[in-house]
Amino acid sequence: MTVAARPWLDQIEPYRPGRHAATLEGSMASNESPLGASGAVLEAVARSARSAHHYPDPLADELRSELAVLHDVDADQILVGNGSDELIYLLALAYLAHGGHAVCADPAYRIDEISTQVVGGRLTKVPLKDWAHDLATMARVDADVAYVVNPHNPAGTVRPLQELERFVTESRSRLVVVDEAYIDFADDPAGMTALPLAAEGRAAVLRTFSKIHGLAGMRVGYLVADAAVIATLRKIRAPFSVGTAAQAAALAALRDPGHTQAVRNHTLRHRAELTRLLQEAGYAIVPSQANFVLAEAPDESELVERLWRQGVTVRPGTALGMPGTVRVSVPSSAGLDLLRAAL
Ligand code: PMP
Repeated sequence: MTVAARPWLDQIEPYRPGRHAATLEGSMASNESPLGASGAVLEAVARSARSAHHYPDPLADELRSELAVLHDVDADQILVGNGSDELIYLLALAYLAHGGHAVCADPAYRIDEISTQVVGGRLTKVPLKDWAHDLATMARVDADVAYVVNPHNPAGTVRPLQELERFVTESRSRLVVVDEAYIDFADDPAGMTALPLAAEGRAAVLRTFSKIHGLAGMRVGYLVADAAVIATLRKIRAPFSVGTAAQAAALAALRDPGHTQAVRNHTLRHRAELTRLLQEAGYAIVPSQANFVLAEAPDESELVERLWRQGVTVRPGTALGMPGTVRVSVPSSAGLDLLRAAL
């Protein structure tokens, strides 16, 4: 083959997904729900197979209108995507292609970084301060898009709404994107979400069904933003990117708040135990508001391999831009026992 990829693509370090362990319980590398999806989701997905021969609803109207009611925004302020990752790529295409400029934390969520590089954009990375976003420094960067991941991945830290509001007001960036993939695991999700800013069109908020709803394999996320931003992204998206089964799964998950609450309760309780266990094993941890815990591990690769041999996978910090750490997803009770024995 003689075809050459665009030259700037040579710079891209590909995304390295977490490994699965031999058992579900032992898999603590990808922040997946240890409780799985709700029973209602399984039924809805099975039912949706009857429509397998039809193209899906391009804009996921039923889901979009329920989300609009839930978040008290106009349905035209919502775009549903094939995971929030698709929406991050669309934002990059629309606002960062051909020399656009993005600012994000260092380490960034890898897809924010990769999507910017893919479209030939420029990235300014601002190191975390005390393990959290340094919003004051980020605000001084004159960028097209500012990415704030709140809670941050992989640190698990949050910035309160007051600080985000100040950032949105003072930031020199034209569009502030707040990625709230993990917000349902924070102490006060309702009090810290940037959705009120998104409702006013002052920021864009990313949410996903992959975490608290346990639908990572279904690929559903959504963006809440100013209607003009949504209209732009609608123009450039692939029309059928969110499948019928995925839409049915997300709707069923949304209508099962009991399961959502159970996952939250499980996560908060087991996060505290996971934290204690890692500390008892001699690792300093970063207090987390997400469904994972970051541990400082000077013996990173040795620890990752030792756990792997005992049936537990965790994410090496090097793959997430934080060498000398490991990120451990909150597991099931059985998973916690496995990890305790392995440590
Ligand atoms: N944002 C952050 C910060 C994440 O950690 C993840 C999950 N890896 C995503 C977005 C992507 O989620 P989705 O599965 O919806 O693409």
